[in-house]
Amino acid sequence: MAVVSLRDEATELLQKLIRVDTVNPPGHETRAAELLRDYLTESGVEVELYAKVPERANVVALRRGRGGGPRLALLSHTDTVLADPREWQLDPWSGELRDDEIWGRGALDMKGQVAASAVAIASLAREGFRPNGDLIFLATADEEVGVDFGLQWLVREHPEAVRAEYSLNEGAGDRIVVGGRPLYLCAAAEKMSSPFTLRVHGRSGHASMPGIADNALVKASRLIQRLAEHRPAPRYEPEVEALLGVLTNGDVPPPEEAVARVESLHPLARTFVEPLLAYTLSPTMIEASHKRNVIPALCEVTVDCRLLPGQTQAEVEPLVRDVLGDGTYELDWTEGHGGTRSPLGTPLWDAVASFVRDLEPGAEAAPVVVPGFTDSHWMREAFGTVAYGFFPMRTMDAELAALLIHSADERIHVEDLELGVDFLRHAGRAIGSLST
Ligand SMILES: [Zn+2]
Repeated sequence: MAVVSLRDEATELLQKLIRVDTVNPPGHETRAAELLRDYLTESGVEVELYAKVPERANVVALRRGRGGGPRLALLSHTDTVLADPREWQLDPWSGELRDDEIWGRGALDMKGQVAASAVAIASLAREGFRPNGDLIFLATADEEVGVDFGLQWLVREHPEAVRAEYSLNEGAGDRIVVGGRPLYLCAAAEKMSSPFTLRVHGRSGHASMPGIADNALVKASRLIQRLAEHRPAPRYEPEVEALLGVLTNGDVPPPEEAVARVESLHPLARTFVEPLLAYTLSPTMIEASHKRNVIPALCEVTVDCRLLPGQTQAEVEPLVRDVLGDGTYELDWTEGHGGTRSPLGTPLWDAVASFVRDLEPGAEAAPVVVPGFTDSHWMREAFGTVAYGFFPMRTMDAELAALLIHSADERIHVEDLELGVDFLRHAGRAIGSLST
């Protein structure tokens, strides 16, 4: 292999990955998996593809350890959400390098981290690096839709291949400046996706004579209004209390005052702190009569509900029923997905914190809870893995990056790509030096 910088190596690999269309559905991640296999094999990394169906392969690569140390998995996914070329300034699958930014669907979510993880493990392997525990590279299919081809399937069907004490994945890494101090957010927990449906009952009738019927849609609207006005009591989870500690320099306000306090520190802080203080309820879908002139006897409302990590449906249901009050409705939970956490103060946390401290003067790592779901959940649930979401981003503004993910003109700055490679190599060395 010709001598190129790791930055150029990661750039070139990311461009190739973007040029392989892995929009999910249908995904067809095997082409990306084969590309990664070829790249990693060239650097002496052992690679295995695992696939439930041939066109949707997962990559599991290994830099084998000496034994006697914990395993670290660098976790990522190769599928992307769709892209409408008409909304983009450049072809979403061009992988074009323009003004030091690599453009294309998946650049941020998350082929950039796929490429950085691959370059990290490949470059360590070429240098002869031998960790105590195995260093694993795990690029999975089907994260964006999550049917059952990716990590969920792998931990169930091939647990020995993917088991790890520690893992790093997407989820955070944003840099925000609070009171002149740069903070890098690291995701240590996630909320549980826990939607429910309300089936509101009434009595049908002809729409021309509303008096003879009992309109389930109208009744549902009152319940929706109560849900919208509900403000659940805020409380601190350990990660959120630690975050507030960093934000306020140790002067943590009571949970009721948290939103006002963080808002005074940073204009964006409200949007990401508020959903971390309590469960959220967002009515999102409704179904009632299918005929304009028939008053519905039944109205079904779907409510997107997110619980705090560790919070249960059994704990929240009486609170929600209290808010709804009396009425002829049934409440059914339709799903309970995610909601796991990893402790802070672990060797992996130290690896994140030490990297951040060396990065710029005064910088600190700060824990956050992800309001959505990530694949870290499957590792925590199956193996008790200490799983964090962290891919540091210094050059691109966090606000801009958030706008570009799942949207048009997605791109990553090569400085951030290189920073990601540096961090993942640092973490590989830090965890690789531990013994069990
Ligand atoms: Zn993603």
